Amino acid sequence: MGFWQKSMIAVACSKPLRAMGEAAGRKTGLSDQFVSAGDADGHVARALALQARGIRISSFYLGEYVEDIGQVRETVDQLTKVMPGLHQAGLDVHVSIDPSQLGYMQDPAILAENVDLIAAQIKEIAEQADSAQTIRLMIDMEDFDMVDDTLALHHRLCDADVPVAQTLQARLHRTEADLGDMIARGAMVRLVKGAMAPPASVAFTNRDQIDRNYMKLAGMMLSDTAQQSGFFPVFGSHHRELVMSIAKLADQNGWSRDGFEFEMLYGVNQPLQRELLEAGYRLRLYAPFGQDWWAYAWRRVGENPRNLGLLMKSGFNR
Ligand SMILES: Cc1cc2nc3c(=O)[nH]c(=O)nc-3n(C[C@H](O)[C@H](O)[C@H](O)COP(=O)(O)OP(=O)(O)OC[C@H]3O[C@@H](n4cnc5c(N)ncnc54)[C@H](O)[C@@H]3O)c2cc1C
Repeated sequence: MGFWQKSMIAVACSKPLRAMGEAAGRKTGLSDQFVSAGDADGHVARALALQARGIRISSFYLGEYVEDIGQVRETVDQLTKVMPGLHQAGLDVHVSIDPSQLGYMQDPAILAENVDLIAAQIKEIAEQADSAQTIRLMIDMEDFDMVDDTLALHHRLCDADVPVAQTLQARLHRTEADLGDMIARGAMVRLVKGAMAPPASVAFTNRDQIDRNYMKLAGMMLSDTAQQSGFFPVFGSHHRELVMSIAKLADQNGWSRDGFEFEMLYGVNQPLQRELLEAGYRLRLYAPFGQDWWAYAWRRVGENPRNLGLLMKSGFNR
């Protein structure tokens, strides 16, 4: 991970900068570039507008590495409030969660209790939904030392028949083995490069190596073995060359364009989003909502300096 990305992660994590930036960002609209809405009702309305353009969404209530237990409760409240709205609107939706926003930082028991509450609601909604609607819990992947706990959470929910999916990071050496297990389970996996900066002892740190590993793992996700096990691949990337190589491989390997998805972040690389939709691929957008947008937006700037321009333009256009 380069100097720029590390610096932007530092900006994202800085409490004094966050306090100043959040206040200014709300006034200027700076937050709107990457955030679908400030509240649950606005988020459902935005999701409906995206669906009308053929775009599915992953809902995410903003907040990561939450230290305040009150904020953990607020996250659970917001998610349990937004899910019935998304269901009534007839949407095909994933509900993305970070373990660190639901109690991981406080106590494993709190995390388990909160996830079970959300999972029970998802299961109930999924049982009532017609075939056009689907709802699924998507677990995001955070720091490398959280991977075992996060996968254990996924497997527990999967064994309890909760519609659940898991994000894996191509950056990590261990992901090839973790993905092999997921394929054998016939699970759903969203493959991303990885937004964190793990040490070289556990991760690829060079861009080319990460891209090569992403393609290798994509090959596993689009193999005959994966197809036969009922595995569902989701490719989370804005990297055009990578996305196009994956689309080509899927076609070559006989995957129907309904049998896998591309997923991008709301507000990022819209030309590629349009290109995929026009070519008939399934596209989902990771659409955050809420007020706690600071760390999220600066991580995006760290991933691509061009996003700083987008962020500034959205503010100055107000
Ligand atoms: C749906 C989704 C979910 C995610 N969930 C997680 C998670 O749970 N855990 C985690 O660690 N990370 C997650 N991430 C972040 C991910 O790990 C990467 O940090 C992030 O996606 C950047 O990698 P990239 O593949 O998009 O391309 P990058 O390697 O950042 O960029 C490659 C190329 O993509 C193109 N590109 C990128 N941004 C733009 C832009 N704004 N405009 C035009 N072109 C652009 C450029 O050509 C660039 O050179 C998620 C990402 C997505 C899309």
